[in-house]
Amino acid sequence: MSGLTTAIKQGLTIYEVRAGIEGRSTTATAIAEEHYARIAAGDGAASGGIHSFLALSRQRALARAAMIDDLARVGDPLPLLAGVPVGIKDVLAMQGSPATAGSKILAGYMPPYDATAVKKLEAAGAVLLGKLNCDEFAMGSSNENSAYGPVRNPRALDRVPGGSSGGSAAAVAAGFAVATLGTDTGGSIRQPAAFCGVVGVLPTYGRVSRFGLIAFASSLDRVGPVTNTVKDAATVLNVLAGEDPLDATSSDRPVNDYVGALQEPVAGLRVGVPAEYFGEGLDPEVRAAVEKTIAQLEAAGCVVTPVHLPHTKYAVPTYYVIATAEASSNLSRFDGVRFGLRSDEAKTLSAMYKKSRDEGFGAEVKRRILLGTYVLSAGYYDAYYRKAQQVRALITRDFLEAFAKVDVIVGPMTPTAAFKIGEKADDPMAMYLADIYSVAASLAGICGMSVPCGTTGDGLPIGVQIMGRHFDEATMLRVGAAVEAAQAR
Ligand code: GLN
Repeated sequence: MSGLTTAIKQGLTIYEVRAGIEGRSTTATAIAEEHYARIAAGDGAASGGIHSFLALSRQRALARAAMIDDLARVGDPLPLLAGVPVGIKDVLAMQGSPATAGSKILAGYMPPYDATAVKKLEAAGAVLLGKLNCDEFAMGSSNENSAYGPVRNPRALDRVPGGSSGGSAAAVAAGFAVATLGTDTGGSIRQPAAFCGVVGVLPTYGRVSRFGLIAFASSLDRVGPVTNTVKDAATVLNVLAGEDPLDATSSDRPVNDYVGALQEPVAGLRVGVPAEYFGEGLDPEVRAAVEKTIAQLEAAGCVVTPVHLPHTKYAVPTYYVIATAEASSNLSRFDGVRFGLRSDEAKTLSAMYKKSRDEGFGAEVKRRILLGTYVLSAGYYDAYYRKAQQVRALITRDFLEAFAKVDVIVGPMTPTAAFKIGEKADDPMAMYLADIYSVAASLAGICGMSVPCGTTGDGLPIGVQIMGRHFDEATMLRVGAAVEAAQAR
């Protein structure tokens, strides 16, 4: 019974969990308890822990685990994610658990329903451990913008885990969860995955339902998995992908079998390498690791060719105009009336709105509401917002032209490995510029992923980014698996 659980190692995979439960060497309950014990031992912020979880959902988790154990006991076939302990980024609704989005303004808010992605995971047998820390309203790249305090990088405790899904990446890297859900608007799944040395997948826009996601920028927001292995990510995507009548932007395109696709060899696939992703500001150690990975893909039979993405240099400013514009609109719903915090200082209705927003939002969120309101305002709309939309179309066209010649595009995920906590906290511009390799795929709506591809001399993880065509996660994941296999060698 205790076989697997006493031997739980960091980085347990979905398949190891399932095999343990199916073979009766452990139980879903024991695995859930073991993960809660690890969280209790290593996640407490007060004791210098990781601080990846903001809330635990023990009752719900253990009830689900007991159901899985009943199935295993009678020898019924187990669902795909049977007994797999998962964590959910706190921007997604999970009934019975608070949803703060890392913000004070949502303190005390309990969503009365489950996000579609959350519901699908649980229906596939996953055990929902709780809610994960993140930058406030998913705005940030370091998790330092959480109103509930930063997350530490399990691979180097004085470093950021990345953001905004910092808790999602850190929880997997620390062995507190086997898989987690993150969200990615401009890099927030891929960049923390790179910083923490785990796998993170940005599905194509529309591939995974956003129902139950607290919106940041609706034309960019996406939900996706963080896992230890590429196969695990493909497995979770098999569960998440598909049309949802509750999200009009979800696509009715048929869903591929992403796990099955991993069986196919990568030999003959065309890998594009964009010169624009290897320019100024790229850390030499990151460059070397990514170049080595590309050489390994070539050795595995891929055809490596240069591609051009000439509008890359406009991606960061374009993203920060569009994302803030949409955020300023989305965040107008937080007014102290319907959800969370309400200032008790105010004497009039309008003072109540203003004071609630002033007390509830943090500095970065306020900065973005101001920026977004500015770029949308009469007189500036054409110069900023409309212009940004036009450039977005050019960035998308860059990718479509490149994907006429290649099957995937490979480059660095981040210009540097994880930086120190506090290092960029007072310099929003430096923080925004570090999103250089992540935001273009977001604007174009294509899929992307980060796979670990080595470490720096200091032992910090390095991630390689693989980008794929719209709705071609299958090919992207195949290349991801080849990168992973080359690492293991
Ligand atoms: N770092 C980017 C930002 O701050 C991306 C955030 C995200 O993807 N949610 O907006």
